[in-house]
Amino acid sequence: MRASETAELVFDNCRIHKDNLLGQEGEGFVQSLKILDGGRISIGALSLGISKGAYEASLKYAKERVQFGKPIASFQGISFKLADMATEIEASELLLHKSAFLKNNGEKVTTLGAMAKMFASESCVKIANDAVQIHGGYGYTKDYPVEKFYRDSKLCTIGEGTTEIQKVVISRNILK
Ligand SMILES: Cc1cc2nc3c(=O)[nH]c(=O)nc-3n(C[C@H](O)[C@H](O)[C@H](O)COP(=O)(O)OP(=O)(O)OC[C@H]3O[C@@H](n4cnc5c(N)ncnc54)[C@H](O)[C@@H]3O)c2cc1C
Repeated sequence: MRASETAELVFDNCRIHKDNLLGQEGEGFVQSLKILDGGRISIGALSLGISKGAYEASLKYAKERVQFGKPIASFQGISFKLADMATEIEASELLLHKSAFLKNNGEKVTTLGAMAKMFASESCVKIANDAVQIHGGYGYTKDYPVEKFYRDSKLCTIGEGTTEIQKVVISRNILK
């Protein structure tokens, strides 16, 4: 995520012409929350992309890497990790597609978008972690892409609202 520049913005006595007002005056907070509904689907999609990259790299490596005379993919300890990865990717993709489909149809996706973001990002961290593990020592080096997936995955459980905040949003809505 090195291309994602993070900096402090300061607005001190900053006057803006009324023609440049975004949305309605006094509605900024509500408007920001509405933006988050869509933003969360985007972060979920970002998570899914990282997960797929980590899974594909792991699948390839597990078939190529030979230890004890066999490709490591033939060891159940590795193949079960790949099975979990593939399943969580499918589940994330379905949640994200449903959220995006409903949003495109003008429906409110506050709860579902939070669910999709939380599930896809938490799965992503787990999948990226397993990808490094499957690559063994090489997974920790820059020779393979999985160390980057591992670093990048963590932002997804934080940006556009942490996992804890998604749980606040989901529980508040289901308990209404
Ligand atoms: C590289 C980078 C890029 C970013 N890009 C974006 C972006 O594009 N868009 C965007 O919206 N944000 C972005 N963010 C900011 C991100 O959304 C915030 O960091 C995030 O929302 C968490 O807020 P905070 O850092 O103030 O953490 P805090 O609010 O201080 O939270 C600290 C911890 O306390 C927990 N916590 C806080 N309140 C509660 C609560 N009520 N119940 C339970 N636990 C709680 C949190 O879950 C977290 O574990 C980015 C951050 C980074 C690092």
